[in-house]
Amino acid sequence: MARAGGEPVAVVTGGDRGIGFEICRQLAARGAGVVLTARERAAGEAAANKLAGGTHAVTFHPLDVTDGASIETLRDFLKDTYGRLDVLINNAGIIAKGEAPALKVDLATVRQTLETNALGPQHLTQALVPLLKRGTSPRIVNMSSGMGALTDNHGGYAAYRMSKTLLNAVTAILAAELAGAVAVNSVCPGWVKTDMGGRNATREVAEGADTAVWLALDAPATLTGKFVRDRKVIPW
Ligand code: NAP
Repeated sequence: MARAGGEPVAVVTGGDRGIGFEICRQLAARGAGVVLTARERAAGEAAANKLAGGTHAVTFHPLDVTDGASIETLRDFLKDTYGRLDVLINNAGIIAKGEAPALKVDLATVRQTLETNALGPQHLTQALVPLLKRGTSPRIVNMSSGMGALTDNHGGYAAYRMSKTLLNAVTAILAAELAGAVAVNSVCPGWVKTDMGGRNATREVAEGADTAVWLALDAPATLTGKFVRDRKVIPW
């Protein structure tokens, strides 16, 4: 897409595998300058190298979304290298080993899941909004889940559900605060074949990444503060 400041600069969290890696691939194929982030340097570099051939502009930078110092280092790198940011995709997420129904799950599991899936995106967004405000048609895409919808409460995974509901709240509140400046939306990718989704999942990664990439590059900038699946707004 043509932008006043050149091709968009996009940061993707959890870019070394799964949906995050596919989002990086699709963004790079569309001409975006992609900063693929991952918490493990070796895995992140290997993933970026896989995409870096041809016309793809993919740069690796380390990021653990639960680590404030790591967030600051990424922010400084972006500021010094690009001076702006156009797209932030908060994709990184976990289903913790201790998952259980709400009456059984231990609070350490809940806290760990909230830290990664909701507070990480909140913290990273706080750090990067000044750079996004210097971007062109800037967007934040939060990778949520239908399991975070308040109407979808059965089936265990209580900590994960709570974290995605909180992430949706983060989306709605930030969208209100950033109205007219930065579009902020949550996306449900569907059930996707990844390490998290498992091999019985119904969708390939390309389909799972599609709506996030659409929100990042193509959706009207006026679409903000929504929960989106298959490029359509769904109920919270
Ligand atoms: P995945 O294959 O398990 O990948 C998760 C990614 O998140 C990995 O890159 C992982 O990095 C990264 N990550 C975890 N904790 C992190 C941290 N503290 N800092 C930085 N990165 C971290 O999962 P996926 O299926 O691609 O899921 C991607 C997103 O989609 C998640 O937010 C997930 O909740 C959401 N989602 C997935 C499905 C599905 O069916 N797959 C459905 C709904 C929503 P490491 O490689 O270092 O572990």
